[in-house]
Amino acid sequence: MPEIKKNINLKNYTTFKIGGDAEFFAEALNSEDLINLIKYSHKEKINLTIIGGGSNILISDKGIKGLTIINRSKSIDIKEDIDINFDFQIGKPRYKEGDYFKFNDLDDDDKSYEKVLINVSSGVNLTYLINETLSKGITGIQYFTAIPGSIGGAIFNNIHGGSKLIGDLVYKARLIDKKGNIKEVDNSFFKFDYDSSILHKEEYYLLDTELILYKGNIEKAKNTAKEWIKRKRSIQPILPSAGSIFKNITDQERDTISAPVNSAGWLIDNVGMKGYSIGGAKVYEKHANYIINMGFATQNDVSRLIEEIKDKVYKKFKIELEEEIIFKQ
Ligand SMILES: Cc1cc2nc3c(=O)[nH]c(=O)nc-3n(C[C@H](O)[C@H](O)[C@H](O)COP(=O)(O)OP(=O)(O)OC[C@H]3O[C@@H](n4cnc5c(N)ncnc54)[C@H](O)[C@@H]3O)c2cc1C
Repeated sequence: MPEIKKNINLKNYTTFKIGGDAEFFAEALNSEDLINLIKYSHKEKINLTIIGGGSNILISDKGIKGLTIINRSKSIDIKEDIDINFDFQIGKPRYKEGDYFKFNDLDDDDKSYEKVLINVSSGVNLTYLINETLSKGITGIQYFTAIPGSIGGAIFNNIHGGSKLIGDLVYKARLIDKKGNIKEVDNSFFKFDYDSSILHKEEYYLLDTELILYKGNIEKAKNTAKEWIKRKRSIQPILPSAGSIFKNITDQERDTISAPVNSAGWLIDNVGMKGYSIGGAKVYEKHANYIINMGFATQNDVSRLIEEIKDKVYKKFKIELEEEIIFKQ
């Protein structure tokens, strides 16, 4: 069982570099640690929070009550010669090619290639997994290059890379509930949708998952990964952020206001908020759906800025922007 520490500041466990202390804190280095810590929090009747890469969260200035686990469980196991037929319902990305992102030219017809099954524990870093698989001639996950975080966080939110959603790769998974009961589920259990999965609503945590990848066109996949880095870097800030703050709007909302794209950033730009700041939190000039931490931002600064953005966007477009980032307290 890993050591449980008290009052550990969580800023440096997030990409936003914002947040107070964890009341109790532990790091899980493997699935067994994770299971033991979850059982411990149940036994002690304390609140449980799991953080992977901390790249999609805003932590309260007052910190997080109970036990915060940093999940660093990492194992990758590749199985070949598999025979699976599947057609998953995973939702639809809110994506239309436009001024902000252009990625469709990099898509490949992955499903036409021979399949490979990869068992990945939930703490595995996504970039590490992409590099590992590409180096072994395995493709299909390259569309998520330059997205920070862990597999657990990626599946929690069914992350999107251009027109792709990661739910499309999930074959099976092992989940654990807060009492420590483990269950095996398949793709349909997750009810994947845009920026969403069952893990938002029910208290299950991902232990590990089997992903379906491919023996695809490796040169094309490597080029896709390289291009994603180049194109994302051209619009992403160097200063700390949590990626996009808001979900993109639906096709219906886009058509109602005759917007050229689904991008929430387009709406924020159109209410004149690029560069607008409160305290140390600022709407990023190059991509208005990002809030950057200028070095001294607090959660309160970010939360006030979020409310002001929502208010201005609603007044002009009658659309309620919905946060993509998850608030932790
Ligand atoms: C620069 C930048 C670019 C980004 N680009 C994109 C992008 O292109 N597309 C996109 O979709 N997102 C993007 N993001 C958002 C973010 O990287 C993803 O959502 C990422 O998958 C979050 O993973 P994480 O491990 O950091 O999750 P965390 O931030 O640690 O946690 C997020 C949520 O997942 C839950 N969680 C974490 N692990 C588990 C687990 N094992 N079981 C159950 N729940 C768990 C946490 O409790 C929390 O509620 C970007 C973020 C940044 C900072």
